[in-house]
Amino acid sequence: MHCPACRTSRLQPAKLEDGLLGHGCPQCSGTLVSLLHYRDWAERQPEQEGVATLAAEEQVGESSHALSCPKCAKLMSKFQISGTRANRLDLCGTCDEAWLDSGEWQLLKALELSHRMPAIFTEAWQRQVRQQASEQARRERFTRIAGEEAIARADEIREWLKDHPRRRELLFYIGHD
Ligand SMILES: [Zn+2]
Ligand SMILES: [Zn+2]
Repeated sequence: MHCPACRTSRLQPAKLEDGLLGHGCPQCSGTLVSLLHYRDWAERQPEQEGVATLAAEEQVGESSHALSCPKCAKLMSKFQISGTRANRLDLCGTCDEAWLDSGEWQLLKALELSHRMPAIFTEAWQRQVRQQASEQARRERFTRIAGEEAIARADEIREWLKDHPRRRELLFYIGHD
């Protein structure tokens, strides 16, 4: 099997975690994981304790072009991990194999998703990611207009107002000169 990202190197058996083997690329450090093996491994894991943090210097790769499955050569589908991260996992639904670019396994661990990877491949998850991403974009747009400090303040007020029984009246009060 050749690496779907750099295409020239051959994938080698690689260990992601104790009891979880995949196929790694010696050149780009991406890993192919069989979801069949993954599910079996994930079931045997205790509840995730002690969240791993992603070291700042740790590089997370992202293959932006479409990848062909190293097993069946069909195009793999991309699934964004979270609305605040551009990283996407590649999946071949036919072979049930996922491709993780270099550092994406560490990213899943840092986001507490390493035991719940198949959830990312669901429509519900992807809908939530799109909502998160559009909320993030909206916040960035307003931050450019009003500045980080003002938006942070507005977020606090928004949070406070969220479940306030007199939310409507208070918003009306604030908006009225
Ligand atoms: Zn590679
Ligand atoms: Zn395939």
